[in-house]
Amino acid sequence: MNNIECKENFEIKNLTSFKIGGVVDKIYFPKNQTEFLKLIKNLNNPIILGNCSNVLFSSQGCRRPIICTSKMSHIEFRGTKVIAECGVKGPFLSQRALENKLSGFEFMIGFPGSIGGNLFMNAGAHSQSISDTLSYACLYDRDKDDIVYLTNKEMDFGYRHSILQTGRYIALGAEFDLKRENPEVIKALMDRNLEFRKNIQPPLTYPNAGSVFKNPENDSAGRLLDKAGVKDYDFARVAVWQKHANFIINKGDATSEDVLELMLIMQKKVKNTYTIELTPEIRFVGEMNKHEEEICQELYKKMQK
Ligand SMILES: Cc1cc2nc3c(=O)[nH]c(=O)nc-3n(C[C@H](O)[C@H](O)[C@H](O)COP(=O)(O)OP(=O)(O)OC[C@H]3O[C@@H](n4cnc5c(N)ncnc54)[C@H](O)[C@@H]3O)c2cc1C
Repeated sequence: MNNIECKENFEIKNLTSFKIGGVVDKIYFPKNQTEFLKLIKNLNNPIILGNCSNVLFSSQGCRRPIICTSKMSHIEFRGTKVIAECGVKGPFLSQRALENKLSGFEFMIGFPGSIGGNLFMNAGAHSQSISDTLSYACLYDRDKDDIVYLTNKEMDFGYRHSILQTGRYIALGAEFDLKRENPEVIKALMDRNLEFRKNIQPPLTYPNAGSVFKNPENDSAGRLLDKAGVKDYDFARVAVWQKHANFIINKGDATSEDVLELMLIMQKKVKNTYTIELTPEIRFVGEMNKHEEEICQELYKKMQK
């Protein structure tokens, strides 16, 4: 593993869209599947990260080894089929699909996830999601210690859910089947998606990690949070975004504890107003301090049931 890029005592916050996170003992940046597999097989229980746009990284950092897939960027187009490594960034793939006159990835233009993270979360927007076009995912199976190929059905996709969340599998890459389309039509849809986002999503100059909570069935977390009055929450280092109540903004030097505290206040406000318990969409990574442990038990309890 000597020639695989590795950084020690690395301050991770600048890799995350939230710009939050402490020092990690070791972080590896494989540049292809061979290096990635080598690391997966040799490291002790590594944490896998893509583009760090859906995580709240602990300000206490992390002692477990981390593998960041951001340098695994291989893409191949074969007719309407697209094969992408897990580290490929969604907006880049969306552009490449346009160049190849292929439709199905227009939704990815507006948010920073990698293919691995998008599969893990079943990311979606503007009535499209990654599960719509997936033919199969190429995964490392921790139980079998082998590579497996799961079909779309076997991925157990649901709203912001996939089989990857069981922890058994790690995404190496995937094959998608897109539709031929006039590039002007594709471009118009991408532009429309970007324009729509300007009003409902903070730009990354306001560090954030996307939607804080998932939408409850037949409702919108943003609507409930707004009606419950959380847009008034503006603290020293964190605030609810003024234009959309389901986003938390890091005002500069926020800690993971600041964000968790605000998340809990927001969740309680909606519960007290509507008796609806929102489930966090953001995933916590790294070492928790005692207070964070207590908050997470409250916040994520519905997910643990
Ligand atoms: C401004 C903004 C807007 C956003 N808008 C949207 C939106 O419209 N729709 C939407 O769905 N999301 C949105 N998001 C959230 C985020 O971009 C998505 O959840 C995305 O899928 C996360 O991908 P990532 O590569 O950043 O994952 P990361 O944040 O790096 O990781 C997320 C989870 O996936 C796991 N993971 C990552 N790679 C792998 C892999 N190769 N194998 C196994 N597990 C892996 C990680 O362990 C972690 O648990 C937005 C975020 C931001 C900051």
